[in-house]
Amino acid sequence: MENLSARDQKHLWHPLTQHKLHPKTLGIVKAQGALLFDENGNEYIDGIASWYTCMYGHCNVYILSKVSAQMKQLDQVVFSGFTHEPAVNLSEELVKILPGNQQKLFFSDNGSTATEVGIKMALQYHFNRGEKRNVMLALEDGFHGDTFGAMSVSGLSVYNGPFEEHFIQVERFPAPTKDNIDDILAHLNMLMEQKNIAGFIYEPLVQGAAAMKMHDAEALNKVLKLLQYNDVVTIADEVMTGFGKTGNYFASDYVETKPDVVCLSKALTAGLVPMAITTCTQKIYSAFYSDELKKGLFHGHTYTANPLACTAALAGLELLRSEEMQKNIHRIMESHQQFDLQIKDSPKIARTRQCGVIYALDLNLKIERYGNLRDKLFRHFMDNGVFLRPLGNTIYVLPPYIITDEQLQKVYGTIKSALEII
Ligand SMILES: *Cc1c(COP(=O)(O)O)cnc(C)c1O
Repeated sequence: MENLSARDQKHLWHPLTQHKLHPKTLGIVKAQGALLFDENGNEYIDGIASWYTCMYGHCNVYILSKVSAQMKQLDQVVFSGFTHEPAVNLSEELVKILPGNQQKLFFSDNGSTATEVGIKMALQYHFNRGEKRNVMLALEDGFHGDTFGAMSVSGLSVYNGPFEEHFIQVERFPAPTKDNIDDILAHLNMLMEQKNIAGFIYEPLVQGAAAMKMHDAEALNKVLKLLQYNDVVTIADEVMTGFGKTGNYFASDYVETKPDVVCLSKALTAGLVPMAITTCTQKIYSAFYSDELKKGLFHGHTYTANPLACTAALAGLELLRSEEMQKNIHRIMESHQQFDLQIKDSPKIARTRQCGVIYALDLNLKIERYGNLRDKLFRHFMDNGVFLRPLGNTIYVLPPYIITDEQLQKVYGTIKSALEII
């Protein structure tokens, strides 16, 4: 039989791929802990936790045992009119660690739908109160997903041409820092006078798809304060930053002003199955709570609050809150700091940055996001048994919390040797 990669080409269409330029895929047959195994018998350290999902390790035995027990009890049921224990338990446990003002949970299937729901909450919040507000605010270079609303508020993709004329109205401004915050506040004041601003969606502290671009918590706080004062619904997209990656449970924990809405996915279900949650405050929920049917949020997905996904999320939360996992997080944070000291002065590196277990460095040269040099770097990592996905001239690491010290050193080692080949 032909290998997976060859059979793949017959019928499969991959995400974010121009197949004519990049026809090859790699068949992965197994994953365990921080490791991926391919069909040719090679293994790779998963340096980005498979897009920031499986933070407690691939095929985590504890999570698997919980989910397989749940599988035999209740697999799937309609969540409109019915409820079930995994969802109820998850709501109780999640509220314990969410920013203190979050009260209500709305389920969907992935990060894009989580932000889509957040945007709809913001728009309908004002609609239900009889105010016409139809413009969203977003950060430059943000990424919130690939469905239409999410795509509209994302500022990153240069490949959205075919869809742009269908986008919702968005005003973008730069990620806030100590230097630009006064200009931003003045700009926002002007915008709020001229336009009907409904909501603001942002990735708190770290903009993942913008190559782990980081901004300032105090400056962000000032933005949130001003917007909330003007009743603009603030939506923290914690799809990437959530569940411990920044060192706290959520990036919003570093910011004094808490968001009205929080979007969660990716590590929510520990990499096992897809699910997302959009949470909100009582204030937002109350604008939908009415004797009028049409004021409800008429949004729903078939697999809403799937019991298996809720169970995976519950088991993941238990692990996240354990002393062992918290120790792991701090071990990785310290380890990144040590590594940074070793390499930050290299002439090949323009700058480095870290937030929690997220570590990134910008190379001192221009590399196209999907260009040849980027592919050369990627190959170097894979040939050395490390899965990292450079974004343009940025190399970043976001390992699963259970990565061993030895594995982590190997990841650093291949980054050092990559500096030699460019
Ligand atoms: C990945 C991501 C999304 C989109 O999530 P999908 O599950 O890929 O649809 C949205 N926002 C942020 C911040 C993300 O990192």
